[in-house]
Amino acid sequence: MIFLDLVPSLKSALPQLRGRLLANEPLAPLTWFRVGGPAQVLFMPEDEGDLAYALANLPAEIPVTVVGLGSNLIVRDGGVEGVVIRLGRGFNETKIEPDNRVRAGTAVPDLRVAKVAQEAGVAGLAFYRGIPGAIGGALRMNGGAYGRETKDVLIEARGVTRAGNVQTYANAAMHFTYRHCGVGDDVIFTAALFQGAPGDPAAIAAEMDEITNKRETTQPVKSRTGGSTFKNPEGHKAWQLIDAAGCRGLVVGDAQVSELHCNFLINRGNATAADIENLGEEVRRRVQDNSGVTLEWEIKRIGVGR
Ligand SMILES: Cc1cc2nc3c(=O)[nH]c(=O)nc-3n(C[C@H](O)[C@H](O)[C@H](O)COP(=O)(O)OP(=O)(O)OC[C@H]3O[C@@H](n4cnc5c(N)ncnc54)[C@H](O)[C@@H]3O)c2cc1C
Repeated sequence: MIFLDLVPSLKSALPQLRGRLLANEPLAPLTWFRVGGPAQVLFMPEDEGDLAYALANLPAEIPVTVVGLGSNLIVRDGGVEGVVIRLGRGFNETKIEPDNRVRAGTAVPDLRVAKVAQEAGVAGLAFYRGIPGAIGGALRMNGGAYGRETKDVLIEARGVTRAGNVQTYANAAMHFTYRHCGVGDDVIFTAALFQGAPGDPAAIAAEMDEITNKRETTQPVKSRTGGSTFKNPEGHKAWQLIDAAGCRGLVVGDAQVSELHCNFLINRGNATAADIENLGEEVRRRVQDNSGVTLEWEIKRIGVGR
């Protein structure tokens, strides 16, 4: 789908904007699945002030969507209407602060936060080694692994509302639950402050290596995937329900339930977003029929079908 080019009208409505605006920019290369259509407008703000200016001045009827590193995302084949925001350079700083604290912009990959903390002898953030998103996604998804999650280490986050107001959210105000943050969907997080504990860099490095090894043997980390597709329902493991329903290896179009970890869907090369989403829906139907449990999508799906 080709959307109406909004860039000229946005440029004249927002004369002080500094970041880049691109019309009909493909989003597939920005996601792990490598599927989906374009953004009507892709906006890459220069910094938090530029983001706040844009949000305060964008006409209210224009929808705004933020994407991170696209590791938990299906962009539908028709693309995403309105403005899609991707944070980059101006949100990419990390800083070690007194008392074993780490501050990071939300475009910083989780992996880098783990590494920066390790080098400074700050323990407690090694679990981020295995999550291939950026900090914005970790805040929105309450990303976690191996018994720890963002909720356990976050002191506070900063974000910008759709009206363009910059706000700080203390941990409790994030209303974190399993793979979910309760702050309004309109809020775009810009920075986070984490609390670690004193640790030995060599011991933390060993912990991170162990995480890497575990990942590579149990998950299709080199495939075009979106991580865990469904949340673990209370009292169940999603992968066990999917396996029991006979879905391991199931194929729709060029999308497949991973043979290695059956809560992962993979694009074998030429899948469309519709293939992947239809495969997910087929898995949900079969699990419902087999076990009576309704699986809830963990992967976020954005945009419109073709
Ligand atoms: C191989 C693999 C392994 C994975 N393992 C894990 C795991 O162990 N644990 C785990 O929790 N997840 C895991 N994931 C899923 C994924 O990496 C996490 O959910 C991650 O936190 C998503 O971050 P992202 O930057 O890729 O966000 P995206 O996928 O781009 O976006 C995810 C959601 O976050 C929102 N978002 C992104 N940036 C911002 C921002 N700045 N402000 C507000 N909202 C924002 C988006 O709008 C969207 O709703 C895995 C994924 C893959 C592919």
